[in-house]
Amino acid sequence: MTPVTTFAGKSVALFGLGGSGLVTALALKAGGAHVTACDDNPAKMAEAAAKGIETGDLRRVDWSRFDALILSPGVPLTHPEPHWSAKIAKEAGVEIIGDIELFCRERAKIAPNAPFIAITGTNGKSTTTALIAHILREAGRDVQMGGNIGTAILSLEPPSDNRIHVIECSSFQIDLAPSLAPTVGVLLNISPDHLDRHGTMENYVAIKERLIAKADWSLVGVDNPLSAAIQKRALEREARAKAAGRPIGRQYAVSVERDVEAGISLRDEMIHMLAYPGQERDLGNLAGISTLRGLHNAQNACFAAGVADIYEVWHDDPDVIQRALRTFPGLPHRMEEVARRGGTLFINDSKATNADSTEKALKSFDNVLWILGGKSKEGGIAMLKPYFPKIRKAYLIGAASDEFAATLGEDVPHIHANTLERAVQQAASDAAAMNEPAVVLLSPACASYDQYPNYEVRGDHFRKLIKALPGINPTMGA
Ligand code: ADP
Repeated sequence: MTPVTTFAGKSVALFGLGGSGLVTALALKAGGAHVTACDDNPAKMAEAAAKGIETGDLRRVDWSRFDALILSPGVPLTHPEPHWSAKIAKEAGVEIIGDIELFCRERAKIAPNAPFIAITGTNGKSTTTALIAHILREAGRDVQMGGNIGTAILSLEPPSDNRIHVIECSSFQIDLAPSLAPTVGVLLNISPDHLDRHGTMENYVAIKERLIAKADWSLVGVDNPLSAAIQKRALEREARAKAAGRPIGRQYAVSVERDVEAGISLRDEMIHMLAYPGQERDLGNLAGISTLRGLHNAQNACFAAGVADIYEVWHDDPDVIQRALRTFPGLPHRMEEVARRGGTLFINDSKATNADSTEKALKSFDNVLWILGGKSKEGGIAMLKPYFPKIRKAYLIGAASDEFAATLGEDVPHIHANTLERAVQQAASDAAAMNEPAVVLLSPACASYDQYPNYEVRGDHFRKLIKALPGINPTMGA
């Protein structure tokens, strides 16, 4: 744990005890703060109380004693409207921050030069975060990985000069971290997302930009116009800092579509680094690495290799990035290889809860037996029509079945399987009857809530069903 000592002797209010909230309360208490914690869920309040955290109804207390409100990133700060605790805090003139901010202040106090890599983007955050951590660990570095990827940042070991924190940040977390200034800032890409919580696209983009705006080094994807504009401003900042005689690290561009002037680009399947003119090197080849299939994963790998290059991991071990790319296990539920039977590959892509994500999977495979459906998102699967020729048959599950059947129409043979059990059984037997290699792909393009509590439970169920099929090679998959 990282005790938070920057509020020692002070009083803070904390709202939201799910996810990272309880850890944050404990870290504040361990550092000497007086915490009053609150949650809408009485069970969460009881759990915190059992761990020695003082709980109370923040609507009925005197706010003049509080120095800050620590808000959980899941709780609306501004849109669709501020949560009541945020409203009270604003009226009382109490600052509102989150756990990433507490970490940043602690780092500034106890180890200002401690390596701190922060990662954001609309898509690919978790994969890139996990891959950066994997490469740095392979290179023998002391790595602490957490943030939005699942481990609360304050449950990690404290920052220190020889320990690298690799932290995934959601836009909500950035919004609650005004002093975020990582050693390396990574901004993968930006497309419309969470606009219900950020109001406008401009606001969403501005929040994402804050992750790299004060970073010593940055890597920004330039394959979409919104993040390309951010990269341009980062380069201007680099030039200004240099001219003022206080140079910062390089502000690199990352592209999987073209060569860049300074940064990382993909040449065929080779990750190529151009640090300075005349200083170029190949960082790793993605050919044949099944856990990093697809151009989207190539983008993630370019960023991860670029970060590893900044830390010069190749210095004592020239092959380390290539080795780490090859041994990266991938993350569950993201085009995860579950098993192989004869010529059939079974892929769990349950994290694909919208058509954009499913597109990545359909791009990556041929001869697809596609299991899809659930609670559909706006636009359904219409944007996936260009990939319909790759699909041999579709197996519809959940609430979206009729809607998706209408979109598939005459173009794709399909059945109403209703449940995942039936879909798996049918797809597996159809695959066995085919005379060519095939891919049984769960990539629902839908939320799971109509049939499952979340996409993880859906993906775990799929994996279990596949592992129970006769003749499955048990050595493969997580
Ligand atoms: P996040 O943490 O940002 O949600 P993940 O790494 O968990 O991202 O990947 C989630 C899904 O996003 C993947 O299943 C894939 O469909 C898509 N994805 C991953 N990386 C990228 C990328 N670089 N660009 C676009 N989409 C991506």
